[in-house]
Amino acid sequence: MISIKTDREIELLKQAGHIVYLTHKYLEPYIKPGITTKQLDKLAHDFIISQNATCSFLNYEGFPASICTSINEEVVHGIPSNRKLKNGDIISIDIGACYEGYHGDSAWSYPVGKISEEKKYLLEHTKKALYEGLKAVKAGARIGDIGYAVESYAKKHHLGVVEELVGHGVGSSIHEDPEVPNYGQKNTGHILKENMVIAIEPMLNLGTANVLMLDDDWTIITEDNKPSAHFEHTVVVTKDGCKILTGDDNFE
Ligand code: MG
Ligand code: MG
Repeated sequence: MISIKTDREIELLKQAGHIVYLTHKYLEPYIKPGITTKQLDKLAHDFIISQNATCSFLNYEGFPASICTSINEEVVHGIPSNRKLKNGDIISIDIGACYEGYHGDSAWSYPVGKISEEKKYLLEHTKKALYEGLKAVKAGARIGDIGYAVESYAKKHHLGVVEELVGHGVGSSIHEDPEVPNYGQKNTGHILKENMVIAIEPMLNLGTANVLMLDDDWTIITEDNKPSAHFEHTVVVTKDGCKILTGDDNFE
């Protein structure tokens, strides 16, 4: 069932989203060669707690950490560990925070030190694909319009679109209906209504769209081991567009 949020719920979702945004901003300066993903996880965990929130992903279906850290060919759901970031890596950091029972969800991919031109291309165009998806959102538009916008942008830039994982509704659960795929046909799927809250999250690959799961039963990697990027915002649907809950005007 797709829920329409009340004004009070939107207010709490806004606060949860803002905490996720602040956590990204807090972590960003630490994303440097030499830091371990476990250290980033601890920093994020402690920061989220300091905001009177809890970590949405910790123990979610058994996930053993507070954030997901996915490096290079890892697409999503990487588990923080003692692995050190290296110059030239890219890392996707996916953060969820729960405030007064409501969640925010946002992933961002970051360069570590100096990265290759092709990785820069991947980051730039995956972020732009997210914004193409956001532009397709407004009351009366349909879920397929979002997928179509993301997919056509990605294909134009020769990037593989991961289909196994999708965006989703957000509310008192981190993952709610509807599913928001990063592919689709215009004018198909559920109709968006004012005060629906959804997360849009393209995962794009430099090579094949195909992915595999590692033996840890969490980490998803590209089949050809080429790099992957992931950008995600939680947004509320408005009459003529959407409002980003996990960013501000400068968060680009
Ligand atoms: Mg999500
Ligand atoms: Mg996420």
